[in-house]
Amino acid sequence: MQKKILIIEDEQSIATLLSYNLKQAGYETLIASDGKEGFEMALSEMPSLIVLDLMLPSMDGVEICKELRLQKVGIPIIMLTAKDEEFDKVLGLELGADDYMTKPFSPREVVARIKAVLRRSEGLKVTREDSSSSEMKLGKLKVYPERYEAFLNDEQLEFTPKEFELLVYLMENKNRVLTRDQLLSAVWKYDFAGDTRIVDVHISHLRDKIEENSRKPVFIKTIRGLGYKFEEPKPV
Ligand code: CA
Repeated sequence: MQKKILIIEDEQSIATLLSYNLKQAGYETLIASDGKEGFEMALSEMPSLIVLDLMLPSMDGVEICKELRLQKVGIPIIMLTAKDEEFDKVLGLELGADDYMTKPFSPREVVARIKAVLRRSEGLKVTREDSSSSEMKLGKLKVYPERYEAFLNDEQLEFTPKEFELLVYLMENKNRVLTRDQLLSAVWKYDFAGDTRIVDVHISHLRDKIEENSRKPVFIKTIRGLGYKFEEPKPV
């Protein structure tokens, strides 16, 4: 089955160029030139991935990204930004985008990025299925990597795909100190311009979700000057 890519972009020439190249690469494409329309299309069409422009009429890329994640829609998102636009990539990733690109870009590069993001989200599912129906249980935290589900005190938690990957990786390496660079290359795979703040942002999101008191984390410990360690909480 062809994968559907939704392009939310108000610059017609860019949208058309992207769509053309994606079709050449074997994808089905949908185009929305207005923010609100794009947001609604994302919900009704549930595409495999969204290429999302930052500046859009009626609802901008940041709002769309935030709103989709609020509604627990985990569709991978690649943000597009213009060179002169003030855009903090960490903020974008914090909002739940999976990657970002600065215009002007070569269509070939976008297609490559899209493939990489799709591969990562699928690769994760495949490896998890292969590793049988594993359950990772640590204290009150239960994680089912193959089902992409996690529970705290039997209450289901919601994560973005990257947060979930990070959590699983930390748990797989529990009681080991992991540097930010290690986490960056293990979870984000390729070079994110080496910006390790992304790791800190995601760790803080994970803590908000799994720790009872994120200021006094029992699971994810900060190892000063080094990185992070996932610890098995001591029985009380
Ligand atoms: Ca625009």
